[in-house]
Amino acid sequence: MTCWSRRDMAKLFTLAACGCALGQDRAGGGRPAVDLGGLKFKTGAVPPAREARYWEPLGDRKVRCKLCPQECVVADQERGTCGVRENREGKYYTLAYSQVCSTHIDPIEKKPLFHYLPGTTALSIATPGCNMECQYCQNWQISQFRPEQVPCVDLPPARVAALARQYASPTVAYTYSEPVVFYEYMYDVAVEARKLGIGSVMISNGYIQLEPLRKLIPVLSAIKVDFKGFSEDFYAKVCRGHLKPVLDALAAIAAAGIWLELVMLVIPTLNDNLEENRKMFRWVRQNLGDQVPLHLTRFHPMYKLQNLPPTPVATLEKLSAEARQVGLKFVYVGNVYGHPEESTRCPSCNRMLIQRVGFEIVQNALQDGRCPSCQTRLPGVFGR
Ligand code: SF4
Ligand code: SF4
Repeated sequence: MTCWSRRDMAKLFTLAACGCALGQDRAGGGRPAVDLGGLKFKTGAVPPAREARYWEPLGDRKVRCKLCPQECVVADQERGTCGVRENREGKYYTLAYSQVCSTHIDPIEKKPLFHYLPGTTALSIATPGCNMECQYCQNWQISQFRPEQVPCVDLPPARVAALARQYASPTVAYTYSEPVVFYEYMYDVAVEARKLGIGSVMISNGYIQLEPLRKLIPVLSAIKVDFKGFSEDFYAKVCRGHLKPVLDALAAIAAAGIWLELVMLVIPTLNDNLEENRKMFRWVRQNLGDQVPLHLTRFHPMYKLQNLPPTPVATLEKLSAEARQVGLKFVYVGNVYGHPEESTRCPSCNRMLIQRVGFEIVQNALQDGRCPSCQTRLPGVFGR
Protein backbone atom coordinates (compact mmCIF):
# COMPACT_ATOMS: atom_id res chain seq x y z
CA MET A 1 0.00 0.00 0.00
CA THR A 2 1.28 3.44 -0.89
CA CYS A 3 1.50 5.81 2.08
CA TRP A 4 1.48 9.48 1.22
CA SER A 5 1.79 12.38 3.61
CA ARG A 6 -0.03 15.64 2.96
CA ARG A 7 3.35 17.08 1.92
CA ASP A 8 3.81 14.29 -0.65
CA MET A 9 0.35 14.97 -1.96
CA ALA A 10 1.10 18.67 -2.29
CA LYS A 11 3.95 17.73 -4.61
CA LEU A 12 1.68 15.40 -6.57
CA PHE A 13 -0.93 18.06 -6.84
CA THR A 14 1.46 20.48 -8.52
CA LEU A 15 2.02 17.77 -11.14
CA ALA A 16 -1.61 16.71 -11.49
CA ALA A 17 -3.02 20.26 -11.58
CA CYS A 18 -6.76 20.32 -10.79
CA GLY A 19 -7.32 16.57 -10.98
CA CYS A 20 -11.02 16.13 -10.49
CA ALA A 21 -11.87 12.46 -10.00
CA LEU A 22 -14.71 10.54 -11.60
CA GLY A 23 -17.64 8.73 -10.02
CA GLN A 24 -20.39 9.03 -7.49
CA ASP A 25 -20.46 12.54 -6.13
CA ARG A 26 -16.90 13.24 -7.04
CA ALA A 27 -15.78 16.75 -7.76
CA GLY A 28 -15.90 17.20 -11.52
CA GLY A 29 -16.64 14.05 -13.44
CA GLY A 30 -17.23 15.69 -16.79
CA ARG A 31 -20.37 17.55 -15.76
CA PRO A 32 -20.80 21.11 -17.01
CA ALA A 33 -19.01 23.52 -14.73
CA VAL A 34 -21.03 26.54 -13.69
CA ASP A 35 -20.53 29.71 -15.73
CA LEU A 36 -19.12 32.16 -13.22
CA GLY A 37 -19.25 35.12 -15.55
CA GLY A 38 -15.52 35.54 -16.11
CA LEU A 39 -14.37 34.81 -12.54
CA LYS A 40 -11.11 32.86 -12.62
CA PHE A 41 -9.98 30.06 -10.30
CA LYS A 42 -6.67 31.11 -8.73
CA THR A 43 -4.18 29.39 -6.49
CA GLY A 44 -1.20 30.42 -4.39
CA ALA A 45 -2.27 33.21 -2.03
CA VAL A 46 -3.53 32.52 1.50
CA PRO A 47 -7.22 33.50 1.35
CA PRO A 48 -8.71 36.28 3.50
CA ALA A 49 -9.41 35.13 7.06
CA ARG A 50 -12.76 35.35 8.83
CA GLU A 51 -13.23 34.76 12.51
CA ALA A 52 -14.29 31.18 13.06
CA ARG A 53 -17.27 30.04 15.13
CA TYR A 54 -17.00 27.36 17.83
CA TRP A 55 -13.61 27.67 19.47
CA GLU A 56 -12.26 28.64 22.87
CA PRO A 57 -9.05 30.33 24.02
CA LEU A 58 -6.73 28.20 26.13
CA GLY A 59 -4.12 30.74 27.21
CA ASP A 60 -0.57 31.09 25.94
CA ARG A 61 -2.19 32.10 22.62
CA LYS A 62 -3.46 28.55 22.07
CA VAL A 63 -7.04 27.76 21.07
CA ARG A 64 -9.22 24.67 21.06
CA CYS A 65 -11.50 24.21 18.05
CA LYS A 66 -14.98 23.03 19.08
CA LEU A 67 -16.45 22.55 15.62
CA CYS A 68 -15.74 18.86 15.15
CA PRO A 69 -14.79 15.93 17.37
CA GLN A 70 -11.11 16.25 16.47
CA GLU A 71 -11.08 19.13 19.04
CA CYS A 72 -7.74 20.36 17.70
CA VAL A 73 -5.61 22.32 20.13
CA VAL A 74 -3.86 24.82 17.89
CA ALA A 75 -0.83 26.96 18.73
CA ASP A 76 -0.34 30.49 17.42
CA GLN A 77 0.26 30.60 13.63
CA GLU A 78 -0.71 26.92 13.28
CA ARG A 79 -3.76 25.24 11.71
CA GLY A 80 -6.06 22.45 12.79
CA THR A 81 -6.12 19.00 11.20
CA CYS A 82 -8.48 20.13 8.43
CA GLY A 83 -5.96 22.71 7.22
CA VAL A 84 -8.52 25.49 6.82
CA ARG A 85 -8.73 26.93 10.36
CA GLU A 86 -5.83 28.98 11.67
CA ASN A 87 -4.75 30.50 14.97
CA ARG A 88 -3.56 34.07 14.61
CA GLU A 89 -2.29 35.53 17.89
CA GLY A 90 -4.78 33.60 19.98
CA LYS A 91 -7.84 34.17 17.79
CA TYR A 92 -9.21 31.49 15.53
CA TYR A 93 -10.05 32.04 11.86
CA THR A 94 -11.44 30.15 8.90
CA LEU A 95 -9.62 30.42 5.59
CA ALA A 96 -12.29 28.48 3.70
CA TYR A 97 -15.02 31.13 3.74
CA SER A 98 -16.14 31.82 0.16
CA GLN A 99 -13.15 29.89 -1.26
CA VAL A 100 -14.88 27.58 -3.71
CA CYS A 101 -12.81 25.00 -5.61
CA SER A 102 -15.66 23.04 -7.28
CA THR A 103 -18.99 24.21 -8.70
CA HIS A 104 -21.20 21.90 -10.74
CA ILE A 105 -24.85 21.32 -11.51
CA ASP A 106 -25.51 17.72 -10.44
CA PRO A 107 -28.58 15.51 -10.40
CA ILE A 108 -29.70 15.26 -6.77
CA GLU A 109 -29.52 11.47 -7.25
CA LYS A 110 -25.76 11.79 -7.49
CA LYS A 111 -25.38 12.94 -3.87
CA PRO A 112 -27.04 10.37 -3.44
CA LEU A 113 -30.40 11.59 -2.16
CA PHE A 114 -33.20 9.40 -3.53
CA HIS A 115 -36.15 10.64 -1.46
CA TYR A 116 -35.50 14.34 -1.90
CA LEU A 117 -36.96 16.19 -4.90
CA PRO A 118 -36.19 13.34 -7.35
CA GLY A 119 -35.28 14.40 -10.85
CA THR A 120 -34.10 17.87 -9.81
CA THR A 121 -30.59 19.33 -9.79
CA ALA A 122 -28.39 20.78 -7.08
CA LEU A 123 -25.84 23.53 -7.47
CA SER A 124 -22.96 21.67 -5.85
CA ILE A 125 -20.07 23.49 -4.21
CA ALA A 126 -16.98 22.66 -2.19
CA THR A 127 -14.03 24.35 -0.59
CA PRO A 128 -10.75 22.54 0.10
CA GLY A 129 -10.31 20.66 3.38
CA CYS A 130 -11.63 17.77 5.44
CA ASN A 131 -11.53 16.72 9.08
CA MET A 132 -10.85 13.06 8.21
CA GLU A 133 -8.42 11.35 5.89
CA CYS A 134 -10.12 8.31 4.42
CA GLN A 135 -7.66 6.10 2.60
CA TYR A 136 -10.14 5.69 -0.23
CA CYS A 137 -11.16 9.33 -0.62
CA GLN A 138 -12.22 9.93 -4.20
CA ASN A 139 -11.82 13.68 -3.84
CA TRP A 140 -8.47 13.69 -2.08
CA GLN A 141 -7.16 16.28 -4.52
CA ILE A 142 -9.32 18.84 -2.72
CA SER A 143 -10.13 17.25 0.64
CA GLN A 144 -6.50 16.81 1.69
CA PHE A 145 -5.22 20.24 0.68
CA ARG A 146 -5.22 23.74 2.06
CA PRO A 147 -7.16 26.54 0.38
CA GLU A 148 -4.01 28.19 -0.99
CA GLN A 149 -2.94 24.88 -2.64
CA VAL A 150 -6.09 24.43 -4.70
CA PRO A 151 -7.41 26.75 -7.43
CA CYS A 152 -10.33 28.60 -5.85
CA VAL A 153 -12.74 31.34 -6.73
CA ASP A 154 -14.29 33.83 -4.31
CA LEU A 155 -18.07 33.24 -4.26
CA PRO A 156 -19.92 35.19 -1.56
CA PRO A 157 -23.07 33.50 -0.19
CA ALA A 158 -25.53 35.74 -2.05
CA ARG A 159 -23.72 34.97 -5.32
CA VAL A 160 -24.11 31.22 -4.74
CA ALA A 161 -27.82 31.63 -4.08
CA ALA A 162 -28.19 33.73 -7.24
CA LEU A 163 -26.33 31.08 -9.26
CA ALA A 164 -28.69 28.36 -8.02
CA ARG A 165 -31.63 30.46 -9.15
CA GLN A 166 -29.96 31.21 -12.49
CA TYR A 167 -29.56 27.48 -13.13
CA ALA A 168 -33.09 26.70 -11.87
CA SER A 169 -31.69 24.42 -9.17
CA PRO A 170 -34.02 24.19 -6.17
CA THR A 171 -31.12 23.14 -3.95
CA VAL A 172 -27.54 24.03 -3.07
CA ALA A 173 -25.47 20.98 -2.10
CA TYR A 174 -22.38 21.28 0.12
CA THR A 175 -20.40 18.31 -1.04
CA TYR A 176 -17.25 16.74 -2.59
CA SER A 177 -14.94 17.66 0.32
CA GLU A 178 -16.26 17.93 3.91
CA PRO A 179 -18.68 20.81 4.46
CA VAL A 180 -18.28 20.70 8.24
CA VAL A 181 -14.90 22.39 7.84
CA PHE A 182 -16.44 25.26 5.88
CA TYR A 183 -19.28 25.50 8.37
CA GLU A 184 -19.49 29.31 8.55
CA TYR A 185 -19.71 29.63 4.77
CA MET A 186 -22.21 26.77 4.41
CA TYR A 187 -24.40 28.33 7.08
CA ASP A 188 -24.40 31.76 5.45
CA VAL A 189 -25.03 30.35 1.96
CA ALA A 190 -27.97 28.35 3.31
CA VAL A 191 -29.46 31.50 4.84
CA GLU A 192 -29.08 33.44 1.58
CA ALA A 193 -30.44 30.56 -0.50
CA ARG A 194 -33.51 30.23 1.70
CA LYS A 195 -34.33 33.90 1.05
CA LEU A 196 -34.76 32.90 -2.62
CA GLY A 197 -36.78 29.78 -1.79
CA ILE A 198 -33.81 27.50 -2.44
CA GLY A 199 -33.01 24.62 -0.10
CA SER A 200 -29.65 23.33 1.15
CA VAL A 201 -28.37 19.80 1.59
CA MET A 202 -25.24 18.83 3.49
CA ILE A 203 -23.37 15.81 2.11
CA SER A 204 -21.19 14.97 5.07
CA ASN A 205 -19.23 12.47 7.11
CA GLY A 206 -21.31 13.52 10.13
CA TYR A 207 -18.16 14.37 12.07
CA ILE A 208 -19.42 17.47 13.82
CA GLN A 209 -20.06 18.48 17.41
CA LEU A 210 -23.65 18.61 18.56
CA GLU A 211 -23.87 22.33 19.31
CA PRO A 212 -22.90 23.56 15.82
CA LEU A 213 -24.95 20.74 14.28
CA ARG A 214 -28.12 21.74 16.13
CA LYS A 215 -27.59 25.36 15.13
CA LEU A 216 -27.13 24.37 11.47
CA ILE A 217 -30.05 21.97 11.00
CA PRO A 218 -32.79 24.63 10.86
CA VAL A 219 -31.22 26.27 7.78
CA LEU A 220 -30.83 22.95 5.92
CA SER A 221 -33.41 20.90 4.00
CA ALA A 222 -31.77 17.46 4.09
CA ILE A 223 -28.59 15.72 5.19
CA LYS A 224 -26.72 12.76 3.81
CA VAL A 225 -24.23 11.10 6.13
CA ASP A 226 -21.53 8.61 5.19
CA PHE A 227 -21.38 5.63 7.49
CA LYS A 228 -17.73 4.60 7.11
CA GLY A 229 -18.17 1.30 8.89
CA PHE A 230 -19.50 0.06 12.19
CA SER A 231 -16.34 -0.21 14.23
CA GLU A 232 -14.11 2.22 16.07
CA ASP A 233 -11.18 0.31 14.65
CA PHE A 234 -12.20 1.03 11.05
CA TYR A 235 -12.80 4.72 11.72
CA ALA A 236 -9.43 5.06 13.46
CA LYS A 237 -7.31 3.05 11.02
CA VAL A 238 -8.90 3.91 7.69
CA CYS A 239 -10.42 7.36 8.23
CA ARG A 240 -8.58 9.00 11.15
CA GLY A 241 -11.82 9.54 13.00
CA HIS A 242 -14.11 7.93 15.56
CA LEU A 243 -17.46 6.19 15.21
CA LYS A 244 -19.14 7.32 18.44
CA PRO A 245 -19.43 11.04 17.57
CA VAL A 246 -20.97 10.10 14.21
CA LEU A 247 -23.59 7.97 15.97
CA ASP A 248 -24.34 10.90 18.31
CA ALA A 249 -24.68 13.27 15.36
CA LEU A 250 -26.99 10.85 13.54
CA ALA A 251 -29.22 10.54 16.58
CA ALA A 252 -29.38 14.34 16.85
CA ILE A 253 -30.28 14.65 13.15
CA ALA A 254 -33.01 12.06 13.49
CA ALA A 255 -34.36 13.75 16.62
CA ALA A 256 -34.52 17.08 14.76
CA GLY A 257 -36.72 15.53 12.09
CA ILE A 258 -34.79 16.79 9.05
CA TRP A 259 -34.70 14.43 6.07
CA LEU A 260 -31.73 12.05 6.34
CA GLU A 261 -30.20 9.43 4.07
CA LEU A 262 -27.23 7.17 4.80
CA VAL A 263 -24.48 5.90 2.57
CA MET A 264 -22.01 3.17 3.26
CA LEU A 265 -19.17 2.46 0.85
CA VAL A 266 -18.61 -1.28 1.16
CA ILE A 267 -14.89 -2.08 0.91
CA PRO A 268 -13.75 -5.68 0.44
CA THR A 269 -12.15 -7.14 3.59
CA LEU A 270 -12.24 -3.83 5.51
CA ASN A 271 -15.90 -3.18 6.33
CA ASP A 272 -17.89 -5.88 4.51
CA ASN A 273 -18.27 -8.28 7.43
CA LEU A 274 -21.86 -9.54 7.55
CA GLU A 275 -22.09 -9.76 11.34
CA GLU A 276 -20.69 -6.28 11.87
CA ASN A 277 -23.01 -4.81 9.27
CA ARG A 278 -25.98 -6.59 10.76
CA LYS A 279 -25.23 -4.72 13.99
CA MET A 280 -25.12 -1.48 12.04
CA PHE A 281 -28.46 -2.16 10.36
CA ARG A 282 -30.00 -2.92 13.76
CA TRP A 283 -28.53 0.27 15.20
CA VAL A 284 -30.04 2.26 12.33
CA ARG A 285 -33.43 0.69 12.79
CA GLN A 286 -33.47 1.21 16.54
CA ASN A 287 -32.05 4.74 16.59
CA LEU A 288 -33.03 6.32 13.27
CA GLY A 289 -36.07 4.27 12.30
CA ASP A 290 -36.86 1.91 9.45
CA GLN A 291 -37.70 4.66 6.95
CA VAL A 292 -34.17 6.09 6.57
CA PRO A 293 -32.82 5.18 3.12
CA LEU A 294 -29.53 3.29 3.22
CA HIS A 295 -27.30 3.30 0.13
CA LEU A 296 -24.79 0.45 0.00
CA THR A 297 -22.29 1.55 -2.61
CA ARG A 298 -19.56 -0.17 -4.53
CA PHE A 299 -15.91 0.58 -3.84
CA HIS A 300 -13.39 1.09 -6.64
CA PRO A 301 -9.62 1.28 -6.03
CA MET A 302 -8.77 4.87 -5.16
CA TYR A 303 -6.18 7.11 -3.49
CA LYS A 304 -4.24 4.97 -0.97
CA LEU A 305 -6.46 1.90 -1.38
CA GLN A 306 -5.24 0.75 -4.78
CA ASN A 307 -4.49 -2.76 -3.54
CA LEU A 308 -8.09 -3.89 -3.10
CA PRO A 309 -10.47 -5.04 -5.86
CA PRO A 310 -13.85 -3.44 -6.58
CA THR A 311 -16.60 -4.71 -4.31
CA PRO A 312 -18.27 -7.81 -5.78
CA VAL A 313 -21.88 -7.00 -6.63
CA ALA A 314 -22.86 -10.21 -4.80
CA THR A 315 -21.47 -8.72 -1.56
CA LEU A 316 -23.64 -5.64 -1.94
CA GLU A 317 -26.69 -7.78 -2.67
CA LYS A 318 -26.03 -9.97 0.35
CA LEU A 319 -25.75 -6.96 2.65
CA SER A 320 -28.78 -5.36 1.07
CA ALA A 321 -30.84 -8.51 1.70
CA GLU A 322 -29.63 -8.55 5.30
CA ALA A 323 -30.56 -4.90 5.83
CA ARG A 324 -34.06 -5.61 4.56
CA GLN A 325 -34.24 -8.69 6.74
CA VAL A 326 -33.42 -6.50 9.75
CA GLY A 327 -36.36 -4.33 8.74
CA LEU A 328 -34.98 -1.34 6.85
CA LYS A 329 -37.56 -0.38 4.23
CA PHE A 330 -35.44 1.51 1.69
CA VAL A 331 -32.10 -0.12 0.87
CA TYR A 332 -30.31 0.77 -2.35
CA VAL A 333 -27.33 -0.67 -4.20
CA GLY A 334 -25.15 2.13 -5.53
CA ASN A 335 -22.30 2.55 -8.05
CA VAL A 336 -23.58 -0.45 -10.04
CA TYR A 337 -25.05 0.97 -13.23
CA GLY A 338 -28.51 -0.35 -14.03
CA HIS A 339 -28.85 -2.46 -10.87
CA PRO A 340 -32.54 -3.11 -10.04
CA GLU A 341 -31.96 -2.10 -6.42
CA GLU A 342 -31.34 1.52 -7.38
CA SER A 343 -35.10 2.03 -7.90
CA THR A 344 -37.81 2.71 -5.31
CA ARG A 345 -40.79 0.46 -4.85
CA CYS A 346 -43.83 1.05 -2.67
CA PRO A 347 -43.17 -0.48 0.75
CA SER A 348 -46.85 -1.53 0.98
CA CYS A 349 -47.86 -2.91 -2.45
CA ASN A 350 -44.42 -3.21 -4.14
CA ARG A 351 -45.43 -1.06 -7.13
CA MET A 352 -42.51 0.60 -8.92
CA LEU A 353 -42.58 4.24 -7.82
CA ILE A 354 -39.28 5.78 -8.95
CA GLN A 355 -37.33 3.85 -11.56
CA ARG A 356 -33.70 4.92 -11.89
CA VAL A 357 -30.89 3.95 -14.22
CA GLY A 358 -27.70 5.49 -12.94
CA PHE A 359 -28.61 9.04 -11.99
CA GLU A 360 -31.46 9.22 -14.51
CA ILE A 361 -35.10 9.00 -13.49
CA VAL A 362 -36.76 6.75 -16.07
CA GLN A 363 -40.18 6.87 -14.45
CA ASN A 364 -41.65 8.69 -11.45
CA ALA A 365 -45.14 7.45 -10.62
CA LEU A 366 -45.47 9.32 -7.33
CA GLN A 367 -48.57 11.47 -6.98
CA ASP A 368 -48.22 14.11 -4.26
CA GLY A 369 -45.56 11.91 -2.68
CA ARG A 370 -47.90 8.87 -2.57
CA CYS A 371 -48.14 5.54 -4.32
CA PRO A 372 -50.88 5.91 -6.98
CA SER A 373 -52.03 2.31 -6.38
CA CYS A 374 -52.41 2.07 -2.60
CA GLN A 375 -51.95 5.73 -1.49
CA THR A 376 -49.10 4.87 0.86
CA ARG A 377 -47.04 8.00 1.50
CA LEU A 378 -43.37 7.61 0.58
CA PRO A 379 -41.15 9.14 3.28
CA GLY A 380 -39.03 12.02 2.04
CA VAL A 381 -39.28 15.50 0.56
CA PHE A 382 -41.28 15.53 -2.67
CA GLY A 383 -42.48 19.10 -2.93
CA ARG A 384 -41.58 22.56 -1.73
S1 SF4 B 1 -12.90 21.63 12.28
FE1 SF4 B 1 -10.74 21.42 11.74
S2 SF4 B 1 -9.62 22.60 13.27
FE2 SF4 B 1 -11.69 22.27 14.07
S3 SF4 B 1 -11.53 20.44 15.34
FE3 SF4 B 1 -12.16 19.78 13.32
S4 SF4 B 1 -10.27 19.27 12.23
FE4 SF4 B 1 -9.71 20.48 14.02
S1 SF4 C 1 -14.64 12.28 4.89
FE1 SF4 C 1 -15.13 12.32 2.71
S2 SF4 C 1 -13.96 14.04 1.86
FE2 SF4 C 1 -13.10 13.54 3.86
S3 SF4 C 1 -11.41 12.18 3.43
FE3 SF4 C 1 -13.21 10.92 3.91
S4 SF4 C 1 -14.14 10.48 1.91
FE4 SF4 C 1 -12.71 12.21 1.63
